[in-house]
Amino acid sequence: MAEKQTNVTSTQKAPNTMVKLMRYIKPLWGILFAIVLFSLVGSVLSIIIPTFFRDIVDKTQDGIVHGFDVATIMNDIYISLALLAGSFVCNLIQSYIAPLLSQRMAQRMRRDTNQKANKIPLNYFDTTPAGEILSTMTNDIDTLSTSFSSTLPMLVTATAMLVGCTVLMFVTNAVLAVTTIIASLLGMVLSGIILSKGAPYFKKNQDLIAELNSLVNEDIQGHLVIKAFNAEQETTKAFDDTNRELFDSTWRTQFVSALMAPLSIFASSLSYIFVCVVGAMLVFTGNTQIGTIVAFIVYAQLFATPISEIAQSAGTIQPAIAAGSRIFSVLEQDEMEDEGTTPVDTQTVRGEVDFDHVAFGYNPSNIIVHDFSCHVEPGQKVAIVGPTGAGKSTLINLLTRFYEVNDGDIRIDGTSIYDMSRETLHDTISMVLQETWTFEGTMRDNIVYSKKGVSDEEVWSVVEQCGLGDYVRASADGLDTMIGEDAGLSAGQKQLVTIARAMLDGAPILILDEATSSVDTRTEAVISAAIDKLMEGRTSFVIAHRLSTIKNADKILVLKDGDIIETGTHDELMAKGGFYADLYMSQFDTN
Ligand code: ADP
Repeated sequence: MAEKQTNVTSTQKAPNTMVKLMRYIKPLWGILFAIVLFSLVGSVLSIIIPTFFRDIVDKTQDGIVHGFDVATIMNDIYISLALLAGSFVCNLIQSYIAPLLSQRMAQRMRRDTNQKANKIPLNYFDTTPAGEILSTMTNDIDTLSTSFSSTLPMLVTATAMLVGCTVLMFVTNAVLAVTTIIASLLGMVLSGIILSKGAPYFKKNQDLIAELNSLVNEDIQGHLVIKAFNAEQETTKAFDDTNRELFDSTWRTQFVSALMAPLSIFASSLSYIFVCVVGAMLVFTGNTQIGTIVAFIVYAQLFATPISEIAQSAGTIQPAIAAGSRIFSVLEQDEMEDEGTTPVDTQTVRGEVDFDHVAFGYNPSNIIVHDFSCHVEPGQKVAIVGPTGAGKSTLINLLTRFYEVNDGDIRIDGTSIYDMSRETLHDTISMVLQETWTFEGTMRDNIVYSKKGVSDEEVWSVVEQCGLGDYVRASADGLDTMIGEDAGLSAGQKQLVTIARAMLDGAPILILDEATSSVDTRTEAVISAAIDKLMEGRTSFVIAHRLSTIKNADKILVLKDGDIIETGTHDELMAKGGFYADLYMSQFDTN
C-alpha cells in the first residue's frame, strides 16, 4: 500500500505576501506590464507640461517689452494641449485595464481557493471555523483585488511623478526645488504620524470581520439549538462584543483615512505659500522669471499629490496584505495525499472489505483506534455498535478515506483503498447519513446528484421503491418539484430522498448511519423498508443506535474506545452475555 505517513504534500513557505502575489499573477504579467507602461507614460507627459507653462508665461512677459511672438506662444500652447491629451488617454487606458487585472486575479483566487477546499484534509475544517474560511474566500479576495486595482496604478504613477518632478524641479531652479520639497515633506511627516496611529487597527478590522462572520455563521447554523436552549442572550452578547469592537476599530481607521484629504490640502497650500514667497524674492533679486514661479506652483501640486497618495495607499495596502496572507495561508495548506493509480472496475467490485491492523488518531499523538482488523464478505450486513465516542464514525471516516490511517491498511476486493483513486473509491461506496443533506434544486436533481446519464424511468423506480411515489405524484411539478436545503420536505422525506440517492448510485458498498431522528412509526416503517431494499445485494456497514434493528446482521462489531471488544451475530453475542448483551438489555429495559 502507499506510504500513509506521508499523506500530505508539503508546500514550501514563500517569503512574503507581496512576492507570493507577484508569483501568483505571473500569467497576468502582460496586463501588469501594460498598466505600468501606461501609468509611466501618462505621468511623464504630465510632468513635462509645466515647462511649457513656464515658457508661455515668460514669452508673454517678454512680449510686453519686446513684442509678442504669437506663433511660438501658440506652438507651446498646442504642445501642452497635446501632452495633456496624451496623458489623459494613457490614464484612461490604464484605468480600463487595471480592473481587468485585479478581477482576473480575483476570479482565479476564487476558483483556486474553491478547488483547494476540496483537496484540504478534513481536519483543517475541524480546527478552522467555517465562517473564517468563508470570509477568506469572499471578503479577503474582494479586499485584495479592490485594493490591487486602485493602488497598483496609483503607486506606479505616483512614484514616476515624484521622481520625474524632482529631477525637473532641480533642472529648472534648485532653490525653488528645495523649498517645494521641504514644504511637502512637512505635510508628509504630519501624515505619517497620524497614519501610524491608525495602522494597528487596519489589520484588526479584517480579523474582527472574520470573527463576526464566524459568529453569524454559527448563529445561523445553530439557530434552532440556540432557541431551544434559550441561549439568545449569550450568543447576542458575544456578537455585540465583537460588533462593538469592530465599530471602535473601524471608525478609528476611517477617521485616519478621512484626515488624509484635509492634510494633503494643507500640505499643498503650504507649498504654494513657500513657493510664492521664495519665488517672489528670487524674481525681485533677478535670479529667475515669473514663469518659473508659475511652473513651480504646478510642480508643488504634482509633487505633493503623489506623496499624499502614497501615504493614503498605506491605509488600503495594509488590510490588503493581511487579506493576501490569509488567502495564501489557505492556498498553501497541505493537500490530501495524491491519488492511487491502480485501475479498478467499479462495475465488477464484489464488496469484500478488509480492515487490516488499522491504527488511527485524529491527532497522531492521540491514537483512538489501536489495532483494528476485520474481514467482511461481499453482501454481508455488518453492524457497528458501541457507546458514543467508541469510534464508530471514525471507522467509516477511514473506509471512505476522509481521514487516512496511521498504520495498517484497508482493502476492497483485495486492493488497498490507498492504491485506488479517491474517485474510484467513492464510486464503490454509497452513504446514507443521519444528517440528511438536500440542496436547492428539483427532486430529480437531489436524487440523481452526481450520477451521469440517468433516465426518468430509473429515477421513478427508486422513488417508488423508497416510498416517495405518492408524495412526488401529489406535487404539481412531479420530479421537477423544487426542494431546498432546509425547506420543502419533512425529516422523514429527506431521509427517503437520501436513500433514493444511494439506491440510484448503486455502489456495491453501503454505509448507513442509522437515523435516530424521531419520525412517526409509519414513516419509520417506510424508511426501514426502503433501507432493507437498499441493502439487498450490497456489503453494508450500519452504525446502529437502536440495537433492536440489527438483530439480523451477519456480523456485529462491538466497539469500545476504538477497539473491537466483541464480535459475532446477535444470538452469539447474547449467548456470550458480555458487553453487547448488557448494552442490548439496557436498551431493552428503557424501551
Ligand atoms: P462514535 O461515532 O462512536 O460516537 P467517533 O468515531 O465519532 O465516535 O469518535 C471517536 C473518538 O474520536 C471520540 O473520542 C471523539 O472525541 C474523537 N473524534 C471524533 N471526531 C473527531 C475529529 N474530527 N477530531 C478529533 N477527534 C475526533
